[in-house]
Amino acid sequence: MLWRGRRQSDNIEDDRSDSGGGGIGGGGGQFQLPIGGRTGGGGSIILVILVVIAGWYFGFDPSAILGGGDGGLLPGGGGQITDNSGGGQDSSAGSPANDEMKQFVATVLAETEDTWTGIFKSQGLTYEDPKLVLFSGQVRSACGFASAAAGPFYCPGDHKVYLDMTFFQQLDQQFGATGEFARAYVIAHEVGHHVQNLTGIMGKFDQMRQGMSEVDANQLSVRIELQADCFAGVWAHYTGQKGILEQGDFESALNAAKQIGDDTLQKKMQGYVVPESFNHGTSQQRQTWLTRGYKSGKLSDCNTMSGPL
Ligand SMILES: [Zn+2]
Repeated sequence: MLWRGRRQSDNIEDDRSDSGGGGIGGGGGQFQLPIGGRTGGGGSIILVILVVIAGWYFGFDPSAILGGGDGGLLPGGGGQITDNSGGGQDSSAGSPANDEMKQFVATVLAETEDTWTGIFKSQGLTYEDPKLVLFSGQVRSACGFASAAAGPFYCPGDHKVYLDMTFFQQLDQQFGATGEFARAYVIAHEVGHHVQNLTGIMGKFDQMRQGMSEVDANQLSVRIELQADCFAGVWAHYTGQKGILEQGDFESALNAAKQIGDDTLQKKMQGYVVPESFNHGTSQQRQTWLTRGYKSGKLSDCNTMSGPL
């Protein structure tokens, strides 16, 4: 990706020096999700799922956010991610390599801002830029306390994307999802959740989810996740039109989508798959929707809420 020298976003909050430890915001140790406080049990479960979903599909361990027991998003996922030894405390946080990574993240974020501002404007809407919080090890968000073990996530409660950049090493080394554009896809996926939040899709998801069984909720979350992938594809479509994609870039994003499919991760971690537990989509589905957004560049082609996936 020809990102060097391009605009870098001002919406980066660098919390890497701040451990962010202690209890969860406001709840005094008891995990309170903003929605839960307002709307009772159902809503808070939804936000848990949203944070888990938004959070992160690379074997991220929801208990790292939810503070609950084990049984994370993907069997064994947490352990796999948490081999980050000590919550992603990257001693080289201020290192030149890390600052280069920060510049890359700031540039990709700026590219998402420009693209979504244009798309929203074309629909007579105003795009609100999300903030992207860089953290090391652990962080407090409006969705609760999270550690690097959770991987990147989007919190609808404060409209912020949370990223511990050591995750990119795991993406590369653990999931075999190499290449800069695989990392750009990660950020564009989270921004896809922000677009869902701004357009009310997440709110509708919340309503639809009320009273649903876990299996049905999982299927619904797959639809939310695949749409975020499709939105990442829409962003890649316009990024390609700007002439800043290089040979193989989109393929590295496609490979990342493949490596993080629920079926691929479950097979890798436990040797078998439990389809009713899928809440991100299979490798095939993720590649299909990422490609659909990339090929058409149209939001209207990202309707995952109805019909076959
Ligand atoms: Zn997601």
